[in-house]
Amino acid sequence: MTIIGAGLIGCALAYRLSGELGTKRDIVVIEKNNQVNAENQSSRNSGVIHSGIYYPQDIGPLKAALCLKGNRLLYGFCKRYGVPHKKTGKLMVATDKMEEEYLEDVYRIAGQNRVPDVEMIGPREISCLEPNVTGKRALYIPTAGIVEPTLLIKKLHQLAEDNGVIFLMENEVTGIGHSGSDFSITIKSRSGDEVFKTHMVVNAAGLYSDEIAGIINPSSPYIIDAIKGESAKFYCSAREDIKMSGLNVYPVPFGYYPDGEKLVAPFSEFKNLFYHGRVHKSAGVHLSPTIDMQGSDYMIGDTVTVGPAYSRPRDKEDYSSTRDAGYYHSMVKSFFPGIKPEDISLHQAGIRAKLSGFYDFVIERDPGFKNFINLTGIDSPGLTASLAIAGYTANLIL
Ligand SMILES: Cc1cc2nc3c(=O)[nH]c(=O)nc-3n(C[C@H](O)[C@H](O)[C@H](O)COP(=O)(O)OP(=O)(O)OC[C@H]3O[C@@H](n4cnc5c(N)ncnc54)[C@H](O)[C@@H]3O)c2cc1C
Repeated sequence: MTIIGAGLIGCALAYRLSGELGTKRDIVVIEKNNQVNAENQSSRNSGVIHSGIYYPQDIGPLKAALCLKGNRLLYGFCKRYGVPHKKTGKLMVATDKMEEEYLEDVYRIAGQNRVPDVEMIGPREISCLEPNVTGKRALYIPTAGIVEPTLLIKKLHQLAEDNGVIFLMENEVTGIGHSGSDFSITIKSRSGDEVFKTHMVVNAAGLYSDEIAGIINPSSPYIIDAIKGESAKFYCSAREDIKMSGLNVYPVPFGYYPDGEKLVAPFSEFKNLFYHGRVHKSAGVHLSPTIDMQGSDYMIGDTVTVGPAYSRPRDKEDYSSTRDAGYYHSMVKSFFPGIKPEDISLHQAGIRAKLSGFYDFVIERDPGFKNFINLTGIDSPGLTASLAIAGYTANLIL
């Protein structure tokens, strides 16, 4: 069988199929980059291990279930294989009455999704947990954390390769045909074009999964509506009033228009626009701790990332910065008042594989070809859910 794309999802699936389920099939992973380094979404992310509080069951059942399960699997995997990670916990902070309505909704979804040990807390408890953070109320979510995404993908790749998976690097899938029970895949490499046959294809091409789905099925409904998430950083040792004790600190999830502008409106108006697909719901610009490596040891580092700030990319590879320090400052100052624009410097950008018109992950067989499985719209919480997505997909295959 063939997996297209060696991002976190392709590597997690290759690991799962080759190892834990002991499949006897040959597994080939085709990747257009020259190394498995998480160059696309899989390293250009916030590295947050989400807990499953955001995803309403009615429109996001896969995100809800696979995030919750993926959270547990990821902690277990990281512990077993020494991948740097930490269960830091997370605060989601409401700073005024309007934000409290959004917070109540997240609390409701967290209950519906059975996210463990989520607590609603008040100002005194907030400042006990993070002395420089202020708010009227907050959710404390102890199962959230952080992971080093590049080392995670490297470990998945290495384990899959040890199990006999073949990774064809610097090979781009440019064509897919079908005859009898076989697919013929055209790959473009430095030495020219080559075609090989395979019985089963899994499309894990991330931002390009819509294009791959469209090659085999021209009436495929999937269009990736790429969204850029830019981020910045600051050093918490710089001053006493921006020191952090290592929690993820988030605002309430607001609506964002397609051009990246934030919707500021009462919750009922947001809900209406969100359910009609006019705005998307985003975790918003948040503060996340990072991991510092010292030899083979790791600990919470001095750098805190601030992001993602949304904007519309020119194309799927546009990693330029369009937001300045003042923008990040304006997004976090209400719950992190000690920060000043001059503390903040720009960091990186990533592009999210947001699927136009769909909220949930899509993991399904192509309607015309039962041995062609599309994994598309795997945006956040795809990192957290990666091992659960791999398990779910493996169940479709085996
Ligand atoms: C800004 C940002 C912040 C995020 N924060 C978080 C977070 O904190 N927590 C969380 O859980 N999730 C987060 N995510 C989501 C998470 O990063 C993604 O869901 C996950 O990395 C998706 O992995 P993937 O393998 O599907 O995609 P990718 O990493 O994009 O991998 C797809 C691979 O397919 C390859 N490919 C594409 N086309 C072809 C082709 N034709 N031939 C061969 N190879 C091809 C690409 O080169 C690439 O390596 C974030 C994402 C972004 C962008």
